[in-house]
Amino acid sequence: MSDHVLVINAGSSSLKYSLMDAGSGAAAADGVIERIGEPQGHRRHRGPDGETESSDPIASHEDALRAALKAFETHGPSLDDVELAAVGHRVVHGGARFGAPSLVDDALIAEVSELVPLAPLHNPANLEGIEVARRLFPDLPQVAVFDTAFHQTLPPHAYTYAVPSDWLEQHGIRRYGFHGTSHSFVAEEAARRLGRDLTELNLIVLHLGNGCSASAVHGGRSVETSMGMTPLEGLVMGTRSGDLDPAIHGHLARELGWSIDEIDRVLNSASGLKGLAGENDFRELSRLRAAGDPRAELAFDVYCHRIKKYVGAYYAVLGTVDAIVFTAGVGQHSAEVRAAALQGLERLGIRLDPGRNAEPPGTGTVSADGSEVTVLVVATNEEWQIARQALAVVRR
Ligand code: ADP
Repeated sequence: MSDHVLVINAGSSSLKYSLMDAGSGAAAADGVIERIGEPQGHRRHRGPDGETESSDPIASHEDALRAALKAFETHGPSLDDVELAAVGHRVVHGGARFGAPSLVDDALIAEVSELVPLAPLHNPANLEGIEVARRLFPDLPQVAVFDTAFHQTLPPHAYTYAVPSDWLEQHGIRRYGFHGTSHSFVAEEAARRLGRDLTELNLIVLHLGNGCSASAVHGGRSVETSMGMTPLEGLVMGTRSGDLDPAIHGHLARELGWSIDEIDRVLNSASGLKGLAGENDFRELSRLRAAGDPRAELAFDVYCHRIKKYVGAYYAVLGTVDAIVFTAGVGQHSAEVRAAALQGLERLGIRLDPGRNAEPPGTGTVSADGSEVTVLVVATNEEWQIARQALAVVRR
């Protein structure tokens, strides 16, 4: 039986897909359809014959998935030949209801719809992707894999905000955590690299991409994580502020007359590195820093200082740490961030090897021999994790 899973990540104006071999992690093809609903759409498909691109209007998510299927037909590989085992969907918010990947049925769709207020930008698009795939693949099992699921093991003292207790029961206000698919993949991969069983390890995982989050993983279970009820809390990100004093909202509203929507927009889209230095892409920020831009320098320092605070906090949460694992675009590629974030933590048993840390391509062990805590760089692979988890659900 085939281990192939079509992984779909539907965003508000884009649809990404990968045809994954869940066993090996090889992507037989992948692609993205962007600017859905805009006058000029764009699509890219990478298959056995290389990459093809085209630009034409794509009216809806349904048209986007049809365009992807057409690309498989025209450029390969043929989906009939690979005999898909399932379609795996990335779903951002599973609330407190979903602690594991789940087979899609009408009840799941209703429950994910109820969670839309917690993820208004993401869940509607994810649902759209599910509905479209159900129509186009009526005979295939569809599996929802939630960004929040891995963090459902957080203990109550970690997920509870110190607010009136009925906020949790009545409004679902608590920490959920995100990037769980990446954190779980990276934790498993770290255990493999260390040649140890995940159940005996304490790990701090740092996912530093456009979005950034940290987690403390005890015995393979997430026990603390930096993103909260929404993906805004925690580390400094490309365009998101991460932690800030909640009284700032009131100040902006009362003193400056800003609307809640405007405050939300600025904290999500115009803060973080972009807010501080005018640039959210880390490579651009590095160029500005190299050119001596003081705003870029400060942004880098704020970014790394925040990571260091979380490493310290999660060290305390875990008691002992076997490994700190860096992943995603910045985590994997920026030796400077790793060095700055871990600088001065030798008394905690964390010692980088400057030579290893600086070595491309950026996967492997970067701590010094004899460092009590191993520091690893791991390439995350959320598509593979979604494929593996989807396959496990259908084979159960
Ligand atoms: P996403 O969260 O969208 O999946 P990625 O994991 O691809 O994002 O990370 C994107 C970030 O990684 C960008 O800020 C990008 O500039 C940064 N990045 C990618 N390559 C490098 C590199 N070689 N050096 C520093 N930063 C990098």
